Amino acid sequence: MVNIGRYEKIIEELKPHNATLVAVSKFKSVEDIQKLYDLGQRDFGENYVQELVEKQAQLPKDIRWHFIGNLQRNKVKYIAAFIHLIHGVDSFNLLKEINKQAEKSQRRISCLLQMHVAEEETKAGMDETEMVAFFEFLDAQKEQANHISIEGIMGMATFTEDENQVKSEFRQLKTLFQFIKNSYFIGKDDFRILSMGMSNDYPLALAEEANMLRIGSLLFGKR
Ligand SMILES: *Cc1c(COP(=O)(O)O)cnc(C)c1O
Repeated sequence: MVNIGRYEKIIEELKPHNATLVAVSKFKSVEDIQKLYDLGQRDFGENYVQELVEKQAQLPKDIRWHFIGNLQRNKVKYIAAFIHLIHGVDSFNLLKEINKQAEKSQRRISCLLQMHVAEEETKAGMDETEMVAFFEFLDAQKEQANHISIEGIMGMATFTEDENQVKSEFRQLKTLFQFIKNSYFIGKDDFRILSMGMSNDYPLALAEEANMLRIGSLLFGKR
């Protein structure tokens, strides 16, 4: 069930922050997505390639689809023609494949690098050292990656009641985001997205200057 009152409240909360809401619709029906679309929502996030491809075919073509799950290299080809933003890039091999498939589709695909700050080992992403090395490598290889643009970073905080811990993890993401923005060539023009904050912690993410939030269950109900 779509919670329209909650949706409208979140949209109002995000306005002063100039932040984009990605409505996370995994496991939710095309009818539910259409309901938010009819209220003006255009950014939707999905975690699974097959589910995304099926929904994309059935829904209006001006939806901006975000891939927020773990993307396997051999599946990039199924979404390359239409994906708006890939959030979870965490290896150079995946980035190379995205670049290759983007070239085939004659487009440029926007990506975010995923950083790991949470305690849970199950959450994906690079640590700070790996990410800095990654940017140095990209800086040196930029001619070979001209069908992608790295537009920012994405991360998930630990799932915990401890607000101080969540706050400090979001702060780590913000600090790294600003460092990259100020340090690397690749960061100069397009580097502008800090994607963090979900249903249970988005106010803390906003307080740490998140400008893209990925919210699912508050809008669509429990999965
Ligand atoms: C599912 C998911 C979300 C949304 O989670 P909610 O708690 O339902 O808001 C956000 N980000 C990622 C990466 C997800 O997998």
